[in-house]
Amino acid sequence: MAEELKVGGELDAWCTSCRLMKWHTIVAIVDGKPAKVECQGCNKQHQYRAQPPGAGEKAPKTPRARKSAEPPAPVVDFETLLAGREAEAKAYSPNDTYALNDVVRHPTFGVGVATATPGPQKIELLFRDGTKKVLLHDRGGAQASKLGPAPRRDEAVKPSGTSDSPRGQK
Ligand SMILES: [Zn+2]
Repeated sequence: MAEELKVGGELDAWCTSCRLMKWHTIVAIVDGKPAKVECQGCNKQHQYRAQPPGAGEKAPKTPRARKSAEPPAPVVDFETLLAGREAEAKAYSPNDTYALNDVVRHPTFGVGVATATPGPQKIELLFRDGTKKVLLHDRGGAQASKLGPAPRRDEAVKPSGTSDSPRGQK
């Protein structure tokens, strides 16, 4: 709707009194642009402002700044994520630690790709049928005690009090 600007015409503008976008009547035009407008809300005349302050004062008239809607989450394609790495899939074990994009083979669900880490010791896997499952991982770590008894492999090796930091052997 390309409306011709003329005195007496109407447009949507920022009212400096109402502090709102309101319909205004054009009172004066300078250089083909509205210079002075009258707010139809409060009937005050003031300088024309196309946009609220802060939104770019001298911005060229943009069609009503539409809030850019966030694009929908990209559809994650399993095969794209997998990228032919099925052969290098690691057998899933809650004691292992996985990183994003790791390929994991689950005994029940099949091959999955790690797509997110929703929380400590949790890994989200996307499987070929499109389902996502949040599975436990990293349970073999040292701080697993909070979540219950976890197998600690090197506990019995050195009962001398230094079992937690065996130095020199990596
Ligand atoms: Zn007003």
